[in-house]
Amino acid sequence: MPELIPKTLCSGHATRRRLLLALPGLVSLSAWARNAEHTVWPRASAVPGGVARLDLGPAASRPQALGDDDVPLLVVGDAISWTALVGIPLSATPGEALVRVRSGEEGRTLDNVAYTIAPKSYRTQRLKVAPGKVDLSAQDLARHERERAHQKEVMATFSAPPSGDLKMQAPTPGRRSGSFGLRRVFNGQSRNPHSGMDIAAATGTSVVSPLPATVIDAGDYFFNGRTVWLDHGGGLLSMMCHLSRIDVRVGERVQTGQHIAAVGATGRVTGPHLHWTVCLNRTAVDPALFLDV
Ligand code: ZN
Repeated sequence: MPELIPKTLCSGHATRRRLLLALPGLVSLSAWARNAEHTVWPRASAVPGGVARLDLGPAASRPQALGDDDVPLLVVGDAISWTALVGIPLSATPGEALVRVRSGEEGRTLDNVAYTIAPKSYRTQRLKVAPGKVDLSAQDLARHERERAHQKEVMATFSAPPSGDLKMQAPTPGRRSGSFGLRRVFNGQSRNPHSGMDIAAATGTSVVSPLPATVIDAGDYFFNGRTVWLDHGGGLLSMMCHLSRIDVRVGERVQTGQHIAAVGATGRVTGPHLHWTVCLNRTAVDPALFLDV
């Protein structure tokens, strides 16, 4: 509620920063007030599977922000106002959370910035797939474990932060299921929650890059099928799965809207569609927060 924001919050960034550091609970109110003026991307949603936007105030150079386990966070903005974007894991416990911020100007000073994770409950989805994609053979299990270790390395990519708008283009046309975060039961057995957005499209439909990116991985994986990973910078990554065809190579630079692959039904699927995961600080977050719909 805007009338509850003290006037001093709007009277300058330096004042606001001191206040925010002293009263961390006001960070989300400040973000709300700014969102009311114009939409920012990604939209803030401080829930498990969402993105928190933390106002870090002014600084001559980009502050460094660290999340859990010292994982670097994406910091965007300019000298007038920096913002840390924090990907919140689907497994996060609602309540207070902290990030650590090191400001370039103030040398080694570490500030704790607190924010509150609100609860969000996700529905359960029951799916039927080929039995061999749920009860894995010893050989498939070994393959999956190798692939999981490789994926962890890919997810840790942290290159120069992106400049400009983080509003994304949908990677393929088609009906988007609101299935991010659903708790999944395959053939009656509980598995990890759904970590991306599924877009229904026929095999062969073009998949494009949602933002400028560098292709950092391409392969054919047990669960994900033919897959491409895109690095948008600063730990913001996209993963496109179940592709029928991959038309880019690792190391290639692509622009927003540029064709990279085609929709398919490879890996663990019930039919052709694009599975799109968006990662921030090694955490899968809801891709819908980056789309204008
Ligand atoms: Zn999916």
